[in-house]
Parts: sequence; C-alpha cells; structure tokens
Amino acid sequence: MKTLNNFNFSGKKALIRVDFNVPLDDHFKVTDANRIEAAKPTIDKILKDGGSVILMSHLGRPKGVEEKYSLKHIVSKTAEVLGVPVKFASDCIGEVAEKAAEDLQPGEVLLLENLRFYAEEEKGDVAFAEKLAKLGDIYVNDAFGTAHRAHASTTIIAQFFPNNKCFGMLLAKEIESLNKVLNNSEKPVTAVLGGSKVSSKITVIENVLDKIDHMIIGGGMTFTFIKALGGNIGNSICEDDKMALALEIMEKAKAKNVQIHLPVDVVAADAFSNEANTQIVDVYNIPEGWQGLDVGPKSLEALKEVIKNSKTILWNGPLGVFELEKFAEGTITLGNFIAEATKNGAFSLVGGGDSVAAVKQFGLEPKMSYVSTGGGAMLEMLEGKTLPGIAAILS
Ligand code: AMP
Repeated sequence: MKTLNNFNFSGKKALIRVDFNVPLDDHFKVTDANRIEAAKPTIDKILKDGGSVILMSHLGRPKGVEEKYSLKHIVSKTAEVLGVPVKFASDCIGEVAEKAAEDLQPGEVLLLENLRFYAEEEKGDVAFAEKLAKLGDIYVNDAFGTAHRAHASTTIIAQFFPNNKCFGMLLAKEIESLNKVLNNSEKPVTAVLGGSKVSSKITVIENVLDKIDHMIIGGGMTFTFIKALGGNIGNSICEDDKMALALEIMEKAKAKNVQIHLPVDVVAADAFSNEANTQIVDVYNIPEGWQGLDVGPKSLEALKEVIKNSKTILWNGPLGVFELEKFAEGTITLGNFIAEATKNGAFSLVGGGDSVAAVKQFGLEPKMSYVSTGGGAMLEMLEGKTLPGIAAILS
C-alpha cells in the first residue's frame, strides 16, 4: 500500500484530493471544521518535507457554477486550521489554476475552486481529470468520503500518475482500521449490527459472517428475525419479505460457528414519539398496538458480557431509535460497554451508518479506537466491495 512515507515531497507539488465538503451557515461561515482537521496530518507532513500542497475538493451539489458553493468561503477557516496562509484559485482547471500552481513555492498551500462546478467531475471525465493532473507532481487521495465514487478527481486522475500516487494518512487509517477488524483481528471478534432494516444490511452481514465469532443484532432489524422465529412483534417495524432470509442468515451463522445474539426484551411504545407510553416487554410477546423502539435491560446485561470478552469490535447501526431521547438508552449503554472494552485493550471500529452519528452525539467518539469518517464508503467496504478510489491507487 503506497502511503506518504513512500515519497519525499521536497520540491514537489502534491495534488491532494481532500473532502472539504463542510457545513456552512447563512453567512458562509464553516460550522464544523472536522473534515479540514482530518486532512491536516497529511498536509503537515508534505509541507514539512519541503513540498507544496494543492488542495482539490467538492462542496455541496452545485448545478454548474453557484456562488454559494464556492470554496472561497472556506479559505480563512482552512488557513486557521492549518496554521499557514492559503491561496485560492478561482477555477480548478485551465489558465487560472495552472498559473497559481506554477507560482506555488515549497511550504505554500493552494486551494482550488469547487470541482463540481464542472459536470465532468462526477461523470469521471478523462479529459477533465487530465487537466487537473497537470497541476501537480504527486497525486494523493485523502478523501475517504468519496472513495466509493469513480469521479475524475477521486479515481480517473490516478492513471496520470502511474508511479507517483499514494494514499493520504486519513484514507490509509480507514483502510488499516477495517483491515484490523476483518482480516487481522484478534479473537473473539464481535460485530454489532443495528439500524432499521435487514435489507440494507444483508450484504454487510454476509460479508462479515466469515470473519467474526459473535453477531449482535439490534435496532429495527430485530423484529424481522423475531417474527420469522414465531414471535409476536405487535406494530414493530418488519420486512415480511425478508423473514426467510433472516432464517437463512441464522442457519449460515450456525454452520460457521458464529453466535447470534438477539435482544430478549425491548422497550415497547404505543407511538413513535418521545411522548409515547412505554413498557418493557419480552421480545417474543409485544402487545398488539405497541412497537419495539429500543433494547431492554435484560438484553443489555447479556450484551455486556459478550462485549467485555471481545478483543475486536465492529459497530454498525444503532440498537434503537436513538434520535428520540426516550429510546436512546440502549445505544448509549452499548456505546459505554464498547468504550470500556476499548479501555481494556480491545480494538473498536465504529462505521458505516448512523452509529457514527450516535457516538458523536453521546460524546463517545474519543473512547473508540477508530470512528470512520465516510458513511457510504465504509458501508461499501464492510460489504466487501473494492472502492474505485482505493483500487485506483493500488493498481
Ligand atoms: P441505519 O441507517 O440502517 O443504520 O439505520 C438507522 C436508523 O434505524 C436510525 O434512524 C434509527 O432510528 C432506526 N432504528 C433503530 N431501531 C429502530 C426500531 N426499533 N424501530 C424503528 N427504527 C429503528
């Protein structure tokens, strides 16, 4: 795997694809600079080597050139985060960009205008990619959030740097973390799979079954399994057409010696609302008119032991409707169990969906070994897919 360490950037211009798709307020002020901060280690290393940095990114989903999506709005924030002045080119290709890149001196940083001002970016246009490629000597991809897209700047461009392309630190860390969980893991390995639907998680489940010892199933997915096993699930969310699949998964898990842990009790509510009445019920006997919206205390007690004994933990998807305070307890408690296991030496990766939002919301992010930065990209990696942005660097 080619990383920054394979190159000496001294006197070189690094063309870095970053993901600076940051949220802006009504006055075009950056409200969350996480993504800029995430790219800082890569940029610092190149500048320290004596290289210069050309940053390219998208922002939002503009239709052609749209002032409100201009990356000029984030120049001052980028300079503040990086601690160095940041120059700006009002176009990402052509004369303006070429002149700015040419004038760039070692130690300097240049930010190019929004790549998506050109439709060619998302189309993966080769000629457009070639124009971008002219700007730098070494191509660095550090944009994990778009690594699952075969866009011009994330994938197609790599062919113009056959020997001068590598992963940035952020992207390398994402790949390493997933590898540590699924390929080089210390046993026992536990996957916690929650979220709303079996259908959106089936490829993940099938891909991880070969690599884990325990599978904890939670969230809305639970009820398709429980109904398939003969339970009464009341009004709980269920995919009737996936019941056979749920049983098949259980059979496969058994054949592979993977222990499946389903909730035994749930917090049932008489409405999908924070104002609902609730009761703790047996997961197989949810009364008519009630729906399971969180895991219950007995289930959590059982999960505590599984998590405590795990050496590697993957967490994808919340255990309940954590967006509603009344049903967040299960997800928070599970997060605390994983934090505790991590403190005791387990490796924990949170990624590929709403569990990342949950971990952030409940302040658990620093207590996990790694929290992925790319929702869709991590989900596809968990599904066992090769991401085009990653393949383009490896080829
Ligand atoms: P996903 O994007 O697949 O990870 O699903 C996350 C969503 O699943 C969150 O918005 C949760 O509110 C939802 N969810 C979790 N548990 C339940 C449940 N028991 N019933 C309905 N939705 C749920």
